[in-house]
Amino acid sequence: MMKPIKVAVAGATGRMGQEVVKLIQREESLVLSGATARRKKGEDAGEAIGIGKLGITLTDSLDEVLAQGPDVLVDFTTPDQVKANTERAIEAGVRPVVGTTGLTEEEIRELDELCRDKGIGGIIAPNFAIGAVLMMVFAAKASRYMPHLEIIEMHHDRKLDAPSGTAWKTAELISKEREEMKQGHPEEKETLEGARGGYRDGFRVHSVRLPGLVAHQEVLLSDAGQLLTIRHDSLNRESFMPGVKLAVEDVMNRTGLVYGLEKILDL
Ligand code: NAP
Repeated sequence: MMKPIKVAVAGATGRMGQEVVKLIQREESLVLSGATARRKKGEDAGEAIGIGKLGITLTDSLDEVLAQGPDVLVDFTTPDQVKANTERAIEAGVRPVVGTTGLTEEEIRELDELCRDKGIGGIIAPNFAIGAVLMMVFAAKASRYMPHLEIIEMHHDRKLDAPSGTAWKTAELISKEREEMKQGHPEEKETLEGARGGYRDGFRVHSVRLPGLVAHQEVLLSDAGQLLTIRHDSLNRESFMPGVKLAVEDVMNRTGLVYGLEKILDL
C-alpha cells in the first residue's frame, strides 16, 4: 500500500477546518500531522472538535506545524492570514491546498512563482464543491450564447468577504467567454446605493448574507423571451470534502500552483 499523505490543517477548529480533520480521519490514504487554531491551542485537535483524541495538539504556531514535515497544508483560515500562511508553507517545501478566499490575482501569480521555484504543486480553489465548479463552467459556456446575465450569490451571515470567491471566479470565467458588453438601460440610475450590485465587465454580481444559508449561487442568463437559471446549493460543509481530497492527492504530482478545482477535473 502507498504511504499515506501527511496533511496539516490551518484553522482546524473552524467550520471548514473541522470537516477537513474528519475527512483525514476517515481516509486511510491521509494522515493528520499537525493543526493550527488560536482559541483552543494546547487542546487535542480531535477532542477540540468532538471526535475523540487524535494525538495532535493544536498550536497557534504555523512554523511548529510546518517543522513536522507535512506533505500538504490545507488552509481554511481568514482572508488576512492566508497569504502569509501559504508563503511560509511553500518556503518550507509543503504543498498548499487553499480554500480560504480573499487572495488577489497578483498574489496568486506570486505564489505560483514561489511554487515553481520550489518545484512543488499547489491548489487554490474558491470552491471545493464539485457541483459548484460544474455550475461555474456551465454558466461560462452558456454566456457565449446568452450574454445578458447576472450572478446572485447567497451565504451565511458570518462570511467576511463579498462577493464570494466563487462569484468572483464565475465572473472571471464568464469574462473569458463572453464579449464585453454593458447590460441594462444606458441611463440606469441607482436611487439606493448598491441596489444594482457590483459591476464587472458589463454584468452585475449580487451578494446576499443571511443566517441559515450555507453557500448558494445562481447565474441568471437571459435572451429574448427566455431565462436560463444555473443554480448550485452546498447544503452542508461536507459537500466540499470530495474536492479537498482530490486536491490533496493532485498536488502531490504537480509542479506550480493552479487556481480553481476545474483545472484538475477532466471537463
Ligand atoms: P471559521 O469558522 O471562522 O474558521 C477559521 C479558522 O481559522 C478557525 O479555526 C480559527 O481559529 C483559525 N484562525 C484564524 N486566524 C488564525 C491564526 N492567526 N492562527 C491560527 N488559526 C487561526 O471560518 P470558515 O467558515 O471555516 O471559513 C474559512 C475560510 O474558508 C473563509 O475564507 C471562507 O470564505 C472559506 N471557505 C472556502 C470554501 C471553499 O470551498 N474554498 C468553502 C467554505 C468556506 P480561532 O477561532 O482559534 O482563531
